[in-house]
Amino acid sequence: MPTSHSIQVKGLHKSYKEHQVLKGVDFEVEKGSIFALLGSNGAGKTTVVKILTTLLKQDAGTATVNGFDIASKPDHVRQSISLTGQFAAVDEILTGRENLVLIAKLRHLKQPRQAADDLLKRFGLTDAADRKASSYSGGMRRRLDIAMSLLGNPDIIFLDEPTTGLDPEARIETWKIVKELAEGGKTVFLTTQYLEEAEQLADRIAILHEGRIIANGTLSELKKLFPPAKVEYVEKQPSLEDIFLTIIGHKRGDQ
Ligand code: ADP
Repeated sequence: MPTSHSIQVKGLHKSYKEHQVLKGVDFEVEKGSIFALLGSNGAGKTTVVKILTTLLKQDAGTATVNGFDIASKPDHVRQSISLTGQFAAVDEILTGRENLVLIAKLRHLKQPRQAADDLLKRFGLTDAADRKASSYSGGMRRRLDIAMSLLGNPDIIFLDEPTTGLDPEARIETWKIVKELAEGGKTVFLTTQYLEEAEQLADRIAILHEGRIIANGTLSELKKLFPPAKVEYVEKQPSLEDIFLTIIGHKRGDQ
């Protein structure tokens, strides 16, 4: 059945022993959009990602990913997606290029070296391609990690807390990449505990709290849920992040 949704989730429940983490989660993600699942630490975001990427089975409820039921068509789901977690899948001992070629070979791509070189170029890593990943900055490692996840050309990209632990500069580099993925037609499902990240990136934001989605909409829709802000006239001070980025000259950390 053709649908404009990449992901459809209905009534998802999951408990770890007596601990009920998901108590009926429902949402849909439009094709080619960036969807942010926002929630505090321990809200159950990773649990949702693990279920949708077939790493964990739900107790109840249904979900389809790229039109495939996660329970009955897990192989089709896996072929449609990539998953980048909080902890990079990058092998520190290998160079950037070797990491990419390794994954390209594991995924049986016809021209692994070519695929690696294309991604190195796209992600601004060509100059660093022959250096060990252990020498990369946090932002470069995250870029390499996302590049690796794109080998095999998945339609739907899951990013579980893609910027947790990154410094502000690396966070902004990662945001740029995420935006480019969606502009290139990919569906991006990301989890975050940072309001600003959801605000910067997402076409739609769903807030997971106490096992359920308590709000779901575009940023402007969500803003309407709250009473209008009192207008106050204050001098606009730069944020600490603005100051930090100005001081360091805000350049891509390739060296
Ligand atoms: P988030 O990604 O939003 O931080 P998680 O999905 O990782 O949340 O975890 C939700 C809750 O479930 C947390 O309280 C966590 O401690 C618990 N939890 C996660 N995985 C397990 C597990 N394998 N066994 C028991 N409890 C778990």
